[in-house]
Amino acid sequence: MIDSIEKVAQWIIDSQRTVVFAGAGLSTESGIPDFRSPGGVWDRYDPEDFYYQNFISSETSRIKYWQMSTEMYGPIRKAQPNPAHLAIAEMEKLGKLDCVITQNVDALHFKAGNSENRVIELHGNATYVTCLSCGKRYDRDEIQEQLGKTQKAPLCNACSGLLKPATISFGQAMPVRETEEAYNRSSRSDLFIVIGSSLVVEPAASMPRIAKRSGAKLVIINRDPTPYDDMADVVIHDSAGPTMAKIMEKVKKGLG
Ligand code: ZN
Repeated sequence: MIDSIEKVAQWIIDSQRTVVFAGAGLSTESGIPDFRSPGGVWDRYDPEDFYYQNFISSETSRIKYWQMSTEMYGPIRKAQPNPAHLAIAEMEKLGKLDCVITQNVDALHFKAGNSENRVIELHGNATYVTCLSCGKRYDRDEIQEQLGKTQKAPLCNACSGLLKPATISFGQAMPVRETEEAYNRSSRSDLFIVIGSSLVVEPAASMPRIAKRSGAKLVIINRDPTPYDDMADVVIHDSAGPTMAKIMEKVKKGLG
């Protein structure tokens, strides 16, 4: 275990292009439930009701969507970055982060101090709302407050289009620019560190394989085994926060 920490720290020091790939496990340590896990909101709502096509076509679906989404947003709004987020932000400060590709929608990388051009959000961002017609962007809290008063699905004040949290829903296409960028960065990385992802949801799951095939070292830090453990150069089955904190301590010492 100590060997693994030291190895990863040295690789970060030596690397020119480290890509971090962040999954739900990173944010559960900040108190954000993994919405897909048992007891999550999907146990109480029917995912069928939340397909993008239904959101577009039915006011009833939109109201249901906003109810569920409001419930998910509560913990996101309150959450603070944990030591793993802070470690990733520190990597950027030290010039040791090409980018972080994240499956999380909670914007905690930004709260931790990462800059906009270093974070690729594959599933969008729950802290703002966009108009599906004209693209106008709104602060989430502002819309939530309005929703609490009207109990109606909110509309754009510029064009009367439908407003939706800026996250990717079931049945909605992955964001093209972000997905392409994530593939590009993965294939050009020389060190690819997976943190808190079980690597089962596509297309995210194929990124470590692409990185590895292009010659990157692959590190997996996840509490449970993943289908890619056999392919990895180092696997650490432990919590993200304490592990990343230890690694960054060594990196800082190594960089002097
Ligand atoms: Zn609009």
